[in-house]
Amino acid sequence: MKPYPIHCVSIVIPVYNEQESLPELLRRTTAACKQLAYEYEIILVDDGSRDNSAQMLEDAASEDGSNVVAVILNRNYGQHAAIMAGFEQCRGEVVITLDADLQNPPEEIPRLVEQAALGYDVVATVRNNRQDSAFRRWPSRLINLAVQRSTGVAMTDYGCMLRAYRRTIVDAMLACRERSTFIPILANGFARHTTEILVHHAEREHGESKYSAMRLISLMFDLLTCMTTTPLRLLSIVGFSLAGLGVLFAFALIVLRLAFGAEWAGDGMFVLFAVLFVFTGGQFIGMGLLGEYLGRMYSDVRARPRFFIEKVLRNQPAAPAPVVVVDGLVSSHTSTSTSPSDQVSS
Ligand code: UDP
Ligand code: MG
Repeated sequence: MKPYPIHCVSIVIPVYNEQESLPELLRRTTAACKQLAYEYEIILVDDGSRDNSAQMLEDAASEDGSNVVAVILNRNYGQHAAIMAGFEQCRGEVVITLDADLQNPPEEIPRLVEQAALGYDVVATVRNNRQDSAFRRWPSRLINLAVQRSTGVAMTDYGCMLRAYRRTIVDAMLACRERSTFIPILANGFARHTTEILVHHAEREHGESKYSAMRLISLMFDLLTCMTTTPLRLLSIVGFSLAGLGVLFAFALIVLRLAFGAEWAGDGMFVLFAVLFVFTGGQFIGMGLLGEYLGRMYSDVRARPRFFIEKVLRNQPAAPAPVVVVDGLVSSHTSTSTSPSDQVSS
């Protein structure tokens, strides 16, 4: 891992009805950024607030020499969409996200930047004294486990938005055209070196969580679908198992019917069951197949970049292709032929 040269740091903060927190947020974030040895910009995205937040952001941005950029969305799109909107406007080599409700202390920003400067693509954080209700903590523990299993990236705390991303990771995320997304997981898909640091977590002082039970459920589905199409695959697996069991069962019933006679088999009733099981299994297989197609269509529709090249290194300038003459026709292509050893990617 090489040290990462930083010129400018961008802070991206989604804001939804946070007028009480904003003055302190701006003061503390600015104070934290002033400690950095780099330029900085604070991008606040108003996610269709119905209180005075948007106006306050506009005022902060229009002050003389202000480092605040106000991005105002026309309506409420959700936290992750708002962060994406902020990503689109930022120019820093390191981009830091945090919540506007001051549950993530802005004072941690310099520590995150320090880690990013060491060369980490993503610097995640773990809330060492999480200040949310048990109703929020338990589901998120389960999710953390599931995420670790399915992505293979060991991350302790996906729920904490206080994170730092390297420019290339932000660009890769912006290239993803899907509408619902879960940023920390999306980012991990493009990261090579990640690290975690312990941070403090404060209670929400003003207002209340913007996530109702319904929105939390929707967020969890965003998280799941952003990460994997495995649930669709489960349909096929269940289908094939059910159909297999059905056939076995039907076979056993028929053998037993032949052995013990029609009376044993409830005068044809059991055979009916056997047939039913096979059909149900068949239906599940059908659904599983549909699921497989849907999963592939979903991948295509959301059109994520197929791969993400971090960098390409060539140790010599590519030589022009030799001119080839075939049947009197001179090749005019300018493609270069480089042997595999010429290309090193790290
Ligand atoms: N937020 C947003 N749009 C929304 C919901 C939330 O921009 O639709 C912002 C909110 O202003 C805050 C952050 O996302 O800065 C996290 O929201 P909240 O604190 O309500 O979530 P929790 O901490 O309860 O998970
Ligand atoms: Mg919060």
